Amino acid sequence: MKKIGLIGGMSWESTLIYYQLMNQQIRERLGGFHSCKLVLDSVDFAEVEHLQHQQDWGALNELMIESAINLERAGAELIILCTNTMHKCAQAIKSHTSVPFLHIVEATGEQIRKEGIDRVLLLGTKFTMESELYPSILKNKYLTNCLVPNAKDQQTMHHIIYSELVHGIIKQESRSQLKEIISKSIKEGVQGVILGCTEISLLLRPVDVSIAYFDTTAIHARAAVNFALN
Ligand code: GLU
Repeated sequence: MKKIGLIGGMSWESTLIYYQLMNQQIRERLGGFHSCKLVLDSVDFAEVEHLQHQQDWGALNELMIESAINLERAGAELIILCTNTMHKCAQAIKSHTSVPFLHIVEATGEQIRKEGIDRVLLLGTKFTMESELYPSILKNKYLTNCLVPNAKDQQTMHHIIYSELVHGIIKQESRSQLKEIISKSIKEGVQGVILGCTEISLLLRPVDVSIAYFDTTAIHARAAVNFALN
């Protein structure tokens, strides 16, 4: 089994899910007392959140590079970044490390391709929804069209993530708002929804969604375990 390196803490609410899912999968696949070999570098999210809202992607690149190098030095054989938004720093990480980096959008794209879907809705932070992160990779590599909610709904989504989910706060009212955003997109021909923020699955469960459900946290964690066992 290879050792997985996690850049976590963004937020720790979702890093916890990664840790649990990866260990559960190793137990399911190897049985007995097996558990996941991993090393975690967990950042202070207050620093990250501040720099994000200052739009200081240079400083964020530096933070992510530092964290990835820590993991490499600690023996990680694969690096995963446990947040969608911070994949805006993926290129910086890749160019400063020599171990493989498992990109969350590519892992998600593989899953979308398996389902044979070509029109999806992306939910995430405003940073993710406004960026080319998902649309460009999904279009170029997986021939999938990626739609985002309108400006007002993006604001709602962003607010729910930063005021509630990263603090572990789950509100029924917010769940209803997300379901409403998804319903509108279904009318526009969307066949699946990408939970493009690693905390959204805390709020929106498969049972809440009538179209294909792509939980990036679970998809990414599973892809990392597959890598570790291959
Ligand atoms: N975990 C979130 C994501 O997947 C949001 C927190 C962050 O900005 O990293 O985008």
